[in-house]
Amino acid sequence: MRKFGLIGLVAFIFSILLCGCRIDSQIKEGSKKINVVATIFPQYDFARQIAGDRINLKMLIPPGAEAHSYEPTPQDMINIQKSDVFIYVGGENDNWIDNILNSIDISQKKVISLLDCVDVLDENSESDAQPGSDSHREVDEHVWTSPKNAMKIAQKISETLCELDADNASFYNQNLNKYIEQLKILDNKFKNVVATGKRKTLIFGDRFAFRYFAEEYGLNCYAAFSGCSSQTETNAAQMAYIIDKVKELKIPVVLKMELSSENIARAVAQETNAKVLTMHSCHNVLKSEFENGETYLNYMNKNLDVLKEALN
Ligand SMILES: [Zn+2]
Repeated sequence: MRKFGLIGLVAFIFSILLCGCRIDSQIKEGSKKINVVATIFPQYDFARQIAGDRINLKMLIPPGAEAHSYEPTPQDMINIQKSDVFIYVGGENDNWIDNILNSIDISQKKVISLLDCVDVLDENSESDAQPGSDSHREVDEHVWTSPKNAMKIAQKISETLCELDADNASFYNQNLNKYIEQLKILDNKFKNVVATGKRKTLIFGDRFAFRYFAEEYGLNCYAAFSGCSSQTETNAAQMAYIIDKVKELKIPVVLKMELSSENIARAVAQETNAKVLTMHSCHNVLKSEFENGETYLNYMNKNLDVLKEALN
C-alpha cells in the first residue's frame, strides 16, 4: 500500500512536471504576439495603425456583413475567448457580446468598450426628432465618427497594448503619436470646411450614424431615421418633413450611408432636385474595400469632400 502510494506520488509529480513543461512551451509559443480581436472596422483600423504586424489582429464581424444585424457564430465565441485584448463598442447593439463576456472567464483579458472611452450622446436629439415621436432614449454607439473621439479610442488601445507588451511599447507610442497627428489634421480640415461653408445643415435620406460628428462640428442634421439600426422604419410624415427641409433651406445634397439601399435618398432627391452622395460611417466595410486596405482616414477624407459639397 505504502509502496504503491510512493510510486503514485512520483508519477503524480512527474506528470505535473511534464504538464508544466508542455504548458510553458505553449505559452511561450503563443505569447510571441498578443491576440487582439476587434468587433468592427474602426477599432480594428486603430489597432492596426498603432501596432502594425506586431500583434495578431482579427476583425470579428467579417467585412461585407451588416454590423447592426449580425448573428454570431460559435467560432466568434472561440475567437473572443482566445483574445488577449478584445475591443468592442458596447451599448444595445452589442448585447450579444455582453452575454458572451458574462459567460466566459475574462480575468486574463483586457476588454475595451468604445463607449467607455468617450462622453456618450443619446441617439435622439431635438434637431431631428419628429414632432410627437416616442421618447425612448438610447445611447448612440457611433462614437468613432468624431475624429476627437477616434483620438481618445486610439490612445486607450495604445495604453492597453503597452501594458501587455512592454517590449514593443515605444513602437506603439511612436505610432500612436503619428496617428494622433494625422487625426488632428483631419479634425482641422473638417473645422475649416464647416467654418467656410455656406450652410450648417445636413440631410440624411437614410439611417443616421453621425450624431458625434455633427455635435463636434456644430452641424444640424435631419434624417429619415433617428438611429442606425437596419430594422428602423421611417414613415410618410418624416419623409415629408425632410423633403420640406431640403426645399426650405435649398440643400444641394441628400446624403446616404454605406451599404444603403439608397431608396429614400433617391426619393428625396427626386422631389427636390438635390444630388445623392455617400457619407461613410465606417460602421460597415465592403470585402473589396477591406482587402484593398481602406482605412478610417481614407473614408474620412472622402467624407471631407462630400461635406464640402453638401455645405455649399
Ligand atoms: Zn451604424
